[in-house]
Amino acid sequence: MKFRNAQIHIPLAIVCAVLLTSALKPNLTMADKNNKVPENVPGPWYVDNELCTPCRVCLDEAPELLQYNADESKVYFYKQPEGDELAKAQSARDVCPQAAIAEDGE
Ligand code: SF4
Repeated sequence: MKFRNAQIHIPLAIVCAVLLTSALKPNLTMADKNNKVPENVPGPWYVDNELCTPCRVCLDEAPELLQYNADESKVYFYKQPEGDELAKAQSARDVCPQAAIAEDGE
């Protein structure tokens, strides 16, 4: 009896482990410079058009650089960072849960 329960529980434990691992895995998709939100101003910093949800978290970090597009479906860089603004752009990139912000645009 004990052995039969183990036969059932081991595959169940494997399925649970796979599902849990999948659920906890961070989003490893990276922003793609070939898929920028069209409104991004030219320059290295941009928001990826597919990855931005938009959750608006980045707007709190860099409101002087980022804003919603007209229908508020995406966020984009309306200004490239200069000087001290670079740290704000980096903070916005770091808090983005979708990894939608990158600086390899040019
Ligand atoms: S934090 Fe990322 S996903 Fe959220 S609005 Fe900003 S760019 Fe888009």
